[in-house]
Amino acid sequence: MSSVALTGGAGASANTTRMSQLKETRVRDNVWVWSFHGDGPAASYGANCVAVVADAGVVLVDVLFSPSHARQVEAALRQKTDRPIRVVVLTHHHADHTWGAVHFVRQGALVVSHRACRDRMASDHPSQLLARRAQAEAADLLADVVLVLPSLTLDHGIGLHLGEEVEVWHPGHGHTPGDVFVYLPEAGVAVCGDLVFHGFHFNYQDADREGVRRGLEALRSLDAEVFVPGHGPPGGPELLGQQLAYHDAVEDVVRQGLAEGKGEAQVTADLRARFPGYGLESVLPVTYARVREWLLRPARGGRL
Ligand SMILES: [Zn+2]
Repeated sequence: MSSVALTGGAGASANTTRMSQLKETRVRDNVWVWSFHGDGPAASYGANCVAVVADAGVVLVDVLFSPSHARQVEAALRQKTDRPIRVVVLTHHHADHTWGAVHFVRQGALVVSHRACRDRMASDHPSQLLARRAQAEAADLLADVVLVLPSLTLDHGIGLHLGEEVEVWHPGHGHTPGDVFVYLPEAGVAVCGDLVFHGFHFNYQDADREGVRRGLEALRSLDAEVFVPGHGPPGGPELLGQQLAYHDAVEDVVRQGLAEGKGEAQVTADLRARFPGYGLESVLPVTYARVREWLLRPARGGRL
């Protein structure tokens, strides 16, 4: 695995100057990961875009927060191959993984997701996009977003056969109701979506308490050597154990805080201290609210 920082520029848009630096990681000869340094909107919150370059075309997994980000990734991809982008797989509905899609749809790419991912994109994104465009930090970046919905949905799993086997699996409601991960059995690579964060806080906004753990079990059952998280650098199977330990530690911190009568500000400060240097600190108030709700809710015989 090798990682380099790319200088901005090639094929870049007018927005390039405000965007952070693109980072490129090669995990296999035909599998690449791109992300932007940092974790605000200009950096697409540090989300990863993965390219699988197969004989019959390119499969992209997650396409970042805006067409501007997507254009920069495409410029980097075009340094590797001129093969067409056939398929875009969305691991879940969150905007930092989906709003760049229109750039690739215009080139004829087929967008694939779980059915519940498509449902949430259809119900949530129009009002979210309006709200985010009203915020100065994201307004220019989102000016040319056109919302597009997946054309192909799955309920359990599908295989793509473009010269490299690409499996797309739904492990149940984990990070969001419409999670999928991507598995490349020949390459031994799993693209985890936001079931796994690495060096970033987990976003529990739409998560299921038991489902996030079941998702990690499903990933662990794969015969993969490389795991690409939704945010942060790729690694080995140790990323799964680290994510599980994170979930347990977050519950411990919130439980302890509640026992000591602490409120949101104090608990989020405790979480920052427990995970120094982690990105996406902006999600911690949601973490406090969701985990508090889980801990205070009477035990149920299954997930909601
Ligand atoms: Zn994300």
